[in-house]
Amino acid sequence: LKKYILLSHFINLKTPSYCDSGIIEINTDRNIDNGDICNSSIIRLSNHTGTHIDCPYHFDQSGAKISDYEICDLIFKKPTLIDLSDITDHYISINDIDKHKFDIIDKDLILLRTGFERFRNEKKYMFDNPIVKAEVFYYLRENFPAVKAIGVDTISISGYNDREAGRAAHRAALCVNPRILLIEDMKLNALSTKTKLLTVFAAPIFIENMDAAPATVFAEVEINE
Ligand SMILES: [Zn+2]
Repeated sequence: LKKYILLSHFINLKTPSYCDSGIIEINTDRNIDNGDICNSSIIRLSNHTGTHIDCPYHFDQSGAKISDYEICDLIFKKPTLIDLSDITDHYISINDIDKHKFDIIDKDLILLRTGFERFRNEKKYMFDNPIVKAEVFYYLRENFPAVKAIGVDTISISGYNDREAGRAAHRAALCVNPRILLIEDMKLNALSTKTKLLTVFAAPIFIENMDAAPATVFAEVEINE
């Protein structure tokens, strides 16, 4: 049975941001209840709000921007979900990924599920998330050249507790060829072990010259009951 599952969170005024640094304003522009002819709103967001894609330009002045990507670059036909909910320290390292290496062969998108999403309504989601080590990106590039993007169910691959490691990780992903895109703050709890991922679609808001963009990400899946 084929189904589609949303892997993006809805954006609202409570949407968390990296170290609580984001801006989200959603205001009514026109309102039928107030005598206007229609309803509309004005929204103001940092471009790293909610489920979003980080592009090379985020850390590299000459790196690609979101509008440099073709839509086909953002359709992942060989995605995989790696469950890391058993990690005990604050870092995702090569060792954690290597345990799942047979699930990564030939994959183009790796969704790392830490389970940290369950704290999304708490402050620790913005300040205390697991950090992906830079070494992971070098390891993936060398051993799994098909990988084009990584998705995480945390606010960022970086974190307040070790921003230096987080910056190194961003550079390892975004500043080295072939670049690995990052999809942060994903909704991965809707996927279960009974779900077979077929295709993942990441549809960003295509604003020109942006280093990142909020994205609607969804998966076509097969459910085996
Ligand atoms: Zn970001």
